Amino acid sequence: MTPTAFMLKLKTRGGGEVDYKKLREEMVKRQLIPRGINDRRVLDAFLRVEREKFVPSSLREDAYKDFPLSIGEGQTISQPYMAALMTQCLNLRGEEKILEIGTGSGYQTAILALLGWQVYSVERIPSLAEKAKKLLKKMGYDNVKIFVGNGTVGLEQYAPYDRILVTAGAKDIPPPLIQQLAEEGIMVIPVGNAYSQELMVVKKKDGKISSKGVERCVFVPLIGQYGWEEKIE
Ligand code: SAM
Repeated sequence: MTPTAFMLKLKTRGGGEVDYKKLREEMVKRQLIPRGINDRRVLDAFLRVEREKFVPSSLREDAYKDFPLSIGEGQTISQPYMAALMTQCLNLRGEEKILEIGTGSGYQTAILALLGWQVYSVERIPSLAEKAKKLLKKMGYDNVKIFVGNGTVGLEQYAPYDRILVTAGAKDIPPPLIQQLAEEGIMVIPVGNAYSQELMVVKKKDGKISSKGVERCVFVPLIGQYGWEEKIE
């Protein structure tokens, strides 16, 4: 077995081996292409990024399944199809400065890093931000900067952004994100109530905003000044 093949095959819960490269190919073939993901660059990025490294080790074998998974702190890594749809809607060509709100595990951040020029990602939970930062650095993604903070106010210091991706459910589009979106920019954001949202694609042209819904979805809430209040249990 070559060193690469050895690295790709890790022990399973049952003691066997998992071929993650094969699982990635199956995911693209069975979950993404049949549902309309057809941007070749997006498909290639999903074939490349090792999703199993971004989920807790106990869930590694489920990393390529067709649903979101828990990443701790009450948060999730999105279903592969939803991550791919959001990415395709951003229409990335390689030169974009991207703002991501909701780093989570860092998986979507890695996809954006492959497809854009520079990614600024904001996560409100420090332990998730720290973990994602270390992992992305270790995996060699050097065009990513991660910040701990309230992403509903955006990240003024590097604005404007050619693309903005919000990976948590908002009740409305936060006004600071509209301000920080560049002319001809695209923002993708789930908007709705706490239980169900519509994935919106928002465009800015001649200073004016237009938006359209592309798919129903369910995300964890976007919490903060221009989002939902944190639930104290
Ligand atoms: N894209 C991530 C991935 O690939 O793992 C999954 C993101 S998860 C569905 C949503 C994330 O948004 C959570 O980690 C949550 O803590 C974060 N979040 C919620 N409100 C936020 C805010 N105001 N600013 C920054 N992050 C926020």
